[in-house]
Amino acid sequence: MTADLLTASAADLAGRMAAREVSAREVVDAHLDRIAATDGDGTGDADVHAFLAVVADTARRHADDVDQRRVTGRDLGPLAGVPLALKDLFTMRGAPTTVGSRILDGWVPPYDATVTERLRAADVIVLGKTNMDEFAMGSSTENSAFGPTRNPWDLGRVPGGSSGGSAAAVAACQAPLAVGTDTGGSIRQPAALCGLVGGKPTYGTVSRYGMVAFASSLDQAGPLARTVTDAALLQSVLMGHDPRDSTSIDEAAVGQPYPDLLATLDDGVDGLTIGVVTELRGEGYEPAVLAAFENSIQRFEALGATIVEVSLPHASYGLPAYYLVAPSEASSNLARFDGVRYGLRVDAPTAEEMNAATRGQGFGPEVRRRIMIGTHALSSGYYDAFYAQASKVRRLIAQDFASAFDTVDVLVSPTSPTVAFPLGDKTADPLAMYLNDVATVPASLAGVPAVSVPNGVDGAGLPIGLQVMGPLLGDDRCYRVARALEADLDLDPIARGPHALAAPA
Ligand code: GLN
Repeated sequence: MTADLLTASAADLAGRMAAREVSAREVVDAHLDRIAATDGDGTGDADVHAFLAVVADTARRHADDVDQRRVTGRDLGPLAGVPLALKDLFTMRGAPTTVGSRILDGWVPPYDATVTERLRAADVIVLGKTNMDEFAMGSSTENSAFGPTRNPWDLGRVPGGSSGGSAAAVAACQAPLAVGTDTGGSIRQPAALCGLVGGKPTYGTVSRYGMVAFASSLDQAGPLARTVTDAALLQSVLMGHDPRDSTSIDEAAVGQPYPDLLATLDDGVDGLTIGVVTELRGEGYEPAVLAAFENSIQRFEALGATIVEVSLPHASYGLPAYYLVAPSEASSNLARFDGVRYGLRVDAPTAEEMNAATRGQGFGPEVRRRIMIGTHALSSGYYDAFYAQASKVRRLIAQDFASAFDTVDVLVSPTSPTVAFPLGDKTADPLAMYLNDVATVPASLAGVPAVSVPNGVDGAGLPIGLQVMGPLLGDDRCYRVARALEADLDLDPIARGPHALAAPA
């Protein structure tokens, strides 16, 4: 019974709760027990360490409340009672928000993020806050100030990042759903490395209010789940116009509604034109990743899609452009952590010294590196050569996508050039770490939606992901194509393979 609750999809659990076959409390208790049995505190070799904080009491109270309202016949949402793991950069009243950093030590936000509010309104039950690369800067979760998260498929490997805690929680059956954030790939890449579905919504469809900012023009929250339907259901809960976020898309103003992610989910790919991006495969991609990619293309063709080769000529400049734009915005956003307004303060004789000591001790090495890169790229005399140039490249990449979508319905590429790599493999070489984002940053710079869906495993049984990118507000197409591959491959979404974790008993 318990094992069954842990491996079930969110949609299945919701259906069983609606039919009163199982209570929200039972579902939540099973997942809290699973967390207690597998998560540890990060010091043991078998600790998944997906969570930085578990809010067991609040979760149980919320579950009881859902059960009570169910008994009284109240109408509940499609995911009511389903447990979820929330990345620790969303504010949640009464619980600390760390962003994986020491700089926010002791800060308990007095308000809820819009994402947290929307989850609450949908009666999705937050189990706790998940580990992440500090300020979402990284691709392995090793930049967390609180120790790394381990990949449930192989505990000696990284889960990807920066939403590695969220991904590992879902892969380890600690929660059927998680929310992550994606600035340059931080939902899609961990989804690929943990055998999950992960969606980066169209920029502006999920509110950033209450999300600790990294690079505001790129940051977007989205779902992680074991099935495409679950991810689409969760993204539907998250999306919505919010006047408290100035970049939130107002449907009335743009004259185009937000996509309905469920209406066409099972329509298949027959009759669709799928573009294979020339620049996003080849050099630097592992052979097993390329083989899985080719296999998925053949399957799409067999399912009735037309496959065409498409060039995004400026996509090869995506990485350098991203690694100037994102740190520039970060250097400005992170100026607010000054020892006065939030969290940590390291006392010193003068205000300047206090400020320097606080930031020197509060931020880890990767965050300090990004602040220096960004400050340099924005400084007078270098602005035109770096930030302005990167912004121009960004516009060209967005134009490449726009012209591609004149002729194709979606674009596809591998999500990540590699499978999950061993812990410690890339920590000494920031550039090697950055190269992991080569396939995910173009869609981020263009603001277009993208979904990563499981696309088989390599010779060692490690998961591989396929990325499906769509036009602005075309998130429904990404999910539809992802669902077609999921149905065709029919993989087991539960991480049982060679990973060292005992399967739920
Ligand atoms: N890995 C990328 C970076 O380090 C992307 C991070 C993200 O999407 N938050 O910036």
